[in-house]
Amino acid sequence: MEHALLSASSASRWLTCTASPRFEAQFPETTSEYAEEGRLAHSFCELKVLKKFTTSIKPSAYKTRLSKLKKEPLYTDEMDQTSDLYVEHLTEKAMGYDSTPLVNAEVRVDFSEYVPDGFGTCDCIMIGGDLLDITDYKHGKGVPVSAEGNPQMRLYALGALKKYEPFYGGMIKRVRMTIDQPRIQSELSSETITVDELKAWGETIKPIAQMAFSGFGEFKPGDHCRFCRGKAQCRARADVNTALEDFKDCLLPTAKNIEQAQQNAGTDAPAMLTNDEIGELLVRGQHLVQWYNDLEEYALNALLNGEEIAGWKVVAGRSNRTFSDQEAALAAVIAAGYDESLVYERKPKTLTGLEELMGKKDFAEKIGQFVVKPLGKPTLAPMSDKREPYSTAAADFSGAAQGEQPGASS
Ligand code: SF4
Repeated sequence: MEHALLSASSASRWLTCTASPRFEAQFPETTSEYAEEGRLAHSFCELKVLKKFTTSIKPSAYKTRLSKLKKEPLYTDEMDQTSDLYVEHLTEKAMGYDSTPLVNAEVRVDFSEYVPDGFGTCDCIMIGGDLLDITDYKHGKGVPVSAEGNPQMRLYALGALKKYEPFYGGMIKRVRMTIDQPRIQSELSSETITVDELKAWGETIKPIAQMAFSGFGEFKPGDHCRFCRGKAQCRARADVNTALEDFKDCLLPTAKNIEQAQQNAGTDAPAMLTNDEIGELLVRGQHLVQWYNDLEEYALNALLNGEEIAGWKVVAGRSNRTFSDQEAALAAVIAAGYDESLVYERKPKTLTGLEELMGKKDFAEKIGQFVVKPLGKPTLAPMSDKREPYSTAAADFSGAAQGEQPGASS
C-alpha cells in the first residue's frame, strides 16, 4: 500500500515532532494482526456502503464479495456487526439531508496544497446542500479517538474539498468530520466547522508541514512517540527519558546508596515530596515506563535476529503444562472410567460472547434489561482524561440497570 511521507493518520505526530517523518523513514514499515483486522473490517464497510448508497455493485457481486471476505482468516462476526452499525449511522446522516446526498466510499483525496505530497483515503464522503460530511471508521478499541480538532480529519476534509468544490462551486459552506468507532464508543464523535475556518487552519499548518517535509525539523518527544517507528532508537526521546538525571535519587536502598543519600541530603529541600511534585513525577514516570517497554521490545527483536545488545540475552519465559492432544487425553480419562460430567465443565458464554452471538440489536432487545454496569475500581488518570472524576457517592449507587445509566458500555 502506498503511503505519503506526511500521512494524515500521523499528522498529530509530525505537526508536533517535525523531525519524525524523515527519521521514521529509515525504519521498515511493519504491520500487526490488529492493523490487518482493521483493514479487513474496512473492506466490509466499503462493500456495504457501496451496496446501500450506490448502484455500482450488483446483488450477486455483493453476495460473492461478502462471502469471500467472511472466509478471510481474521474474519470475526463482530466485523459484520460493526460494519452494519457503521452503515446504519451513515444512513441516519443521509436522512438528515433535505434531499438525497451524494455518497462515496474509499475516496482518494489529495491535500498537497497544504502538505507536500499529501494524500489519503476517506472512508466515506457525503455531500448535500451546503454540507460536506466525512466519516472515518476506526476498528481499534484501544483508545477512543475524538474528532474535535483532529488533524487527520481536517486534512481529509481539505482533500475532499479540493476534489468536490469544482463540481459544487461555492455551495459547500460547512464541513462535518465524524469518527465512528463502534467497538468502544456508542456515540459518534463529530466536529462541524465552516469551509473558511477549515482553510484558515490549513494555512496555519503549511509552514509546519514544509518543515516536516524538508528534513530539517525538530525532535519533540511526547505522547505521540507511541506510534513512531523510531520510538526505541530515537536519541531525543532517550534524552528526555534519561530521566536518569531526574530520577537519580530513585536508587535501590542498598547500604551504600542510603549512606550516599544521607550525605547528599540538603538542608533547604524538605525530605518529603509534595503532592505537586508527585503529580509531576507520575507524568514523567508514565513516559519512562512506555519508553522502557519500547526499548525492551526492540532489544528482544534485535537479539532474536542475531544482533548483540551489550549485557543482555534471550531466555525462555515461564510456560504452563498443556496436552499435546486434548481430545485424545480427555477420551482416555473417560475410558479410564471417569464420568463425562466430571471431565467437562459446562460454562455460559460471557456477556460479550453472547452479544457477538446475538448481534447488538437482538442482544439489547432480548436481554438488555439484565445488563448492569458496576462502577469500575478507582484508577489514577491524568486530568486530560475524558472520563468523569470518580465519585464515592456514585460508587454506592452503582450497579443500576444499563438503561438507567446513559453512556454505559461493556
Ligand atoms: S520517537 Fe518521538 S521524538 Fe523521536 S522522532 Fe519519533 S516522534 Fe519524534
